Amino acid sequence: MTLRQNAKLNLVGLTRGQLAEALISVGVSNAKLKMRIDQIWKWVYIKGIRDFQEMTNLSKDFRQTLNENFILDVPNLVFRRVSSDGTRKYLFRVEGNHEFETVYIPEEDRGTLCISSQVGCTLNCTFCHTGTQAWVRNLSATEIVGQLMSVRDDLGEWPGSGVQTNLEQRLISNVVLMGMGEPLYNFDNVRDAMKIVMDGDGISLSRRRITLSTAGVVPGIERAGEEIGCRLAISFHATTDEVRDKIIPINRKWNIATLLEALRNYRRVTNSDRITFEYVMLKDLNDSDEDAYRLVSLIKNIPAKVNLIPFNSWPGSQFERSTPDRIASFANIIYKAGYPSPVRKPRGEDIMAACGQLKSASERVRRQSQTNPIQS
Ligand code: SAH
Repeated sequence: MTLRQNAKLNLVGLTRGQLAEALISVGVSNAKLKMRIDQIWKWVYIKGIRDFQEMTNLSKDFRQTLNENFILDVPNLVFRRVSSDGTRKYLFRVEGNHEFETVYIPEEDRGTLCISSQVGCTLNCTFCHTGTQAWVRNLSATEIVGQLMSVRDDLGEWPGSGVQTNLEQRLISNVVLMGMGEPLYNFDNVRDAMKIVMDGDGISLSRRRITLSTAGVVPGIERAGEEIGCRLAISFHATTDEVRDKIIPINRKWNIATLLEALRNYRRVTNSDRITFEYVMLKDLNDSDEDAYRLVSLIKNIPAKVNLIPFNSWPGSQFERSTPDRIASFANIIYKAGYPSPVRKPRGEDIMAACGQLKSASERVRRQSQTNPIQS
């Protein structure tokens, strides 16, 4: 984990245990440790303060010590674009000059932040644009939780800024780990970051408002149930191993039967906590009525919802989006079998923010950002 910048430790993204170690290293006594952690935690995660000098319930000397040893830093925002539908796409740059994206999707009843967990991805799913990009590295917990903090800065959503922060009215009310990368291949950092996001004395999003999406890393699914406890989404996308092997190569390691068994065992599987099956609609490949019937029989007895995602095309992709009629027929079969089957509306298409398109125009974005860093 890259914690040190300019020789100072970044406290953003540290677990409470790691924060304790950091404070002990600058002489905080055991007697005061818990109080100090609580104080700093609240400044950082409730108030959004990143300047130790503003932490007015700490003594001047202690603030000075913090300032000399630590920083509070979130990823650099290089670029922001706002779609005509309100979707916001952010490009961040982190240590090593690596870039990744985060997307904010406002809806009537919620505001969802789509977070990245890696720069690049190792999975190489053939329909996903990230799969065509080079694998770079895992994001640290700091960089993962920092995405939410930085977007909160942009939305003005810290108390004191006048924005309502009751859960129902929060601008960021939900988090989905559906940006770049495979979260279960960066397990520890994703878990630590989500623990911070769920911490009741800080950002305080409930586990039910966090959805982790995986292409099917089976050993990670069990761990996620035990160590994170958030909701789960599975990029399912095919109903036979033959097709799934082709479009999601890790299916060759953990096939459909193995994956479904892991889902049946996911300890959070209850009716109120159902699993989302994501299903990208690819013309003539996985979108027949037979596929829909097969899908229904595969997920039998799993409390589930099926999110149908019309394929979002990207330059050079070899797939086509299924027709609206085909999608409707597919959705209807699933719905009649008793599963909600919403068709996801593409959001932010004018800013290339839709699913699977992230970092699509990074080079172009970088050129533009030199002249106009924050565009609306
Ligand atoms: N690696 C994780 C999370 C990232 S992908 C996973 O596979 O779940 C987030 C979702 O977008 C996945 O369901 C993915 O399959 C889907 N997706 C990727 N490219 C897409 C595209 N071009 N059109 C529509 N959905 C896409």
